[in-house]
Amino acid sequence: MKTFLATFLMVVSTGHACLAATRLVEPRLTLRKQEAGTKPRVALTFDACSGRTDERILSMLIDNSIPATIFVTGRWLKRNGAVFAMLNARPDLFEIENHGAMHIPAVDRPMAIYGIPAAGSAQAVAAEVAGGAAAIEAQGATPHWFRGATAKYSLSSIGQIRQMGFRVAGYSVNGDGGSLLGAPATEKRIASVRDGDVIIAHINQPTRTAGDGVVKGILDLKAKGFAFVRLDGAVEDGSDDTTN
Ligand SMILES: [Zn+2]
Repeated sequence: MKTFLATFLMVVSTGHACLAATRLVEPRLTLRKQEAGTKPRVALTFDACSGRTDERILSMLIDNSIPATIFVTGRWLKRNGAVFAMLNARPDLFEIENHGAMHIPAVDRPMAIYGIPAAGSAQAVAAEVAGGAAAIEAQGATPHWFRGATAKYSLSSIGQIRQMGFRVAGYSVNGDGGSLLGAPATEKRIASVRDGDVIIAHINQPTRTAGDGVVKGILDLKAKGFAFVRLDGAVEDGSDDTTN
């Protein structure tokens, strides 16, 4: 019995130590607030995780001259080379940033996040970050920000990514709920943002209804007089040492 109890306590305490060591953060990113009387301003950020391109969103941005920051993976780039070239040919509108090589969560310990296996080691985090940057650089763009798959990190991973020269892009409003929300809910979320918000949504899910809500929500903001900036055109404040 004593042995059993000792073993049990050991397991419990090891479990706790493990939990403490693998605490994940989902960093918050906002823009510096505008002075009173100035137009409200937000940043649109889109993830291109894998799969295809949502032309509804892309053509709305181009038709309305709305700038955005697009986080692409090496995996997405392989299948969407023509879209990438088009984005890269419009530096007046689009900033291209790093969403990783293979869309693997940039967490340096073995675990699964939303069912996706994390990189699992510092070495694998480095491969994901450097591989994503290399894929973008090979096409003639230079990323300065990184956002990992699932947007969750361990604090040590954030430190590592910062050491590699990237700022880590959190967000303040989850616009499309991972592209799983319906169109009305997505439109409502995006249309109700406030000055300084950084919105995250997806531009790689052309068959989901969330994309219709993204389009409508952004056009609602435009009609309300919001200005749109890219991450490279603003001063940001990120939690968890992601930007400073
Ligand atoms: Zn993603």
